[in-house]
Amino acid sequence: KEELNIIQGALELRSKTVEDVLTHLNDCFMLASDAILDFYTMSDVMQSGYTRIPVFENERSNIVDILFVKDLAFVDPDDCTPLKTITQFYKHPLHYVFNDTKLDAVLEQFKKGKSHLAIVQRVNNEGEGDPFYEVMGIVTLEDVIEEIIKSE
Ligand code: ATP
Ligand code: ATP
Repeated sequence: KEELNIIQGALELRSKTVEDVLTHLNDCFMLASDAILDFYTMSDVMQSGYTRIPVFENERSNIVDILFVKDLAFVDPDDCTPLKTITQFYKHPLHYVFNDTKLDAVLEQFKKGKSHLAIVQRVNNEGEGDPFYEVMGIVTLEDVIEEIIKSE
């Protein structure tokens, strides 16, 4: 029964982690921080269908901003506005979670915070050098909800 699946899904939030549901960096639609908001870039963003677009500098793992599609409401593609002009104007805060955070905790975080997207980090202590934080991808409220309502 569907109700049982939902209860089951809700209970599993305590055992499942962010890593089980995240969208990997390679699958993220992102923009480079030096992008120009010309017709082509803006069409790309619109066609992606995503509401929140991570912005990276130099490499994709270095997310420095987040662009909301609604930030583009007053941007005219003919002006070829630098993306930086927009991100520096809105300055949306970035939110981070660790890969091993349980989904019930993430859900609480999403409920408390304003944003419904978090950047997923892990501690990389492989290799010789010092451990460092490594960005794995993103997780959104939708990913957690999906875990609750998915039917087996
Ligand atoms: P909303 O539904 O609030 O308009 P959205 O459709 O852009 O937002 P979500 O509903 O939050 O995105 O997420 C849907 C799925 O897409 C989730 O699996 C999420 O991880 C993924 N996702 C969200 N933003 C991106 C992005 N920029 N690139 C790739 N995947 C994304
Ligand atoms: P985002 O998650 O991208 O910030 P948002 O803030 O525009 O999206 P939601 O996250 O979908 O909107 O909803 C946040 C709250 O605002 C919800 O309680 C929702 O019911 C309410 N809300 C959304 N759109 C409207 C609207 N046009 N008028 C009044 N309330 C709205």
